[in-house]
Amino acid sequence: MNPSQNALKNLPKSRVELHVHLDGCVRHETLWELAKKKGLQLPGKGTFQELRDALVIKDPVDLKYFLHPFLIFTPYVAGDLDAMERIAYEFCEDEAKNGVTYVEARYCPHFWMGTEDYHGKLKELGEIVNAVNRGFERGETDFGVKAKTILCALNGTGMIKDVLELCKKFKGEGVVGMDIAMNAYDKSETYVEVPLNPEEIAAYEEARKCGIHRTLHAGEAGGADMVQRAVEVYHTERVGHGYRVVESEAIYSSCKEKKIHFETCPWSSYLTGAVPLGTRKHPIVRFAEEGVNFSLNSDDTTLTGRTLRDDYALAASWGLTEAHAIRANFNAAHSCFLPDKEKDHLIQKLYKEINITA
Ligand SMILES: [Zn+2]
Repeated sequence: MNPSQNALKNLPKSRVELHVHLDGCVRHETLWELAKKKGLQLPGKGTFQELRDALVIKDPVDLKYFLHPFLIFTPYVAGDLDAMERIAYEFCEDEAKNGVTYVEARYCPHFWMGTEDYHGKLKELGEIVNAVNRGFERGETDFGVKAKTILCALNGTGMIKDVLELCKKFKGEGVVGMDIAMNAYDKSETYVEVPLNPEEIAAYEEARKCGIHRTLHAGEAGGADMVQRAVEVYHTERVGHGYRVVESEAIYSSCKEKKIHFETCPWSSYLTGAVPLGTRKHPIVRFAEEGVNFSLNSDDTTLTGRTLRDDYALAASWGLTEAHAIRANFNAAHSCFLPDKEKDHLIQKLYKEINITA
């Protein structure tokens, strides 16, 4: 262990992050290096700055635009198990720098399977989970960040079947839950309501029976009714984003009563266009002021070009106080997907890190 690792390991860590896409949180430097090494196409003339410019979203358009850089950089990683392990390890280092003690990082294993045209196709999705687990285990040892996985499917693709099987296979071995990210655009690139998907509903029901934890993206591009559906039809325990729940007082009150956890992401809420500029009161501020169960998260740092610290700073600029931020971290610890005993341990650890003795 080198001295800087040691310093990071011993840094007080009082943050818990629940909504962050590992496959959208790859260092620009790592991507550039991987693309160069493999001779893959880079934007412009292939300089590092041009890559960074192509990946970081500057202005909010919509969710589809926000996500488009995935098409540029996913091939640099796909099919390459060593790269995935490295990304998971570096992710832990970055989380340590942001004061994170526990993180649930999600990724879509299908995105990293690879194709024949690039690095080659992997034999099975489980190889990816094993590679990420290796990176997380090394990261925990070197940086003192505990990292677990939520496996993510893309709606309407049939991926959920594989994701459920992987969640069963790796339960207790690095994987703590599942998620569906919403691809809500048709071929002409206009936003469409996500249709109810019986296969996905059945998978969520099966997961519930098997004790597999569930979160679901909703109320970001879609409206409050999507949050209601996530809670009442999919029986999700947490909602990814969920800002637009405030558009319906009835649905908002019901979620508040049920103490549904909202995994909010300040910078991405702005850059995806989910919460337009000029919104009188950002839903995150409302959540904080009204004691809603929510957390603060960084979502996709490759695309936002920001860190979790920047997300806390942005939320503070909207009016969140120090106490709101502390509460958000305890909310996250209480709503995390760890087994009860480990969850209790995490909560005690948070108290210890902020020097509170009961
Ligand atoms: Zn997300």
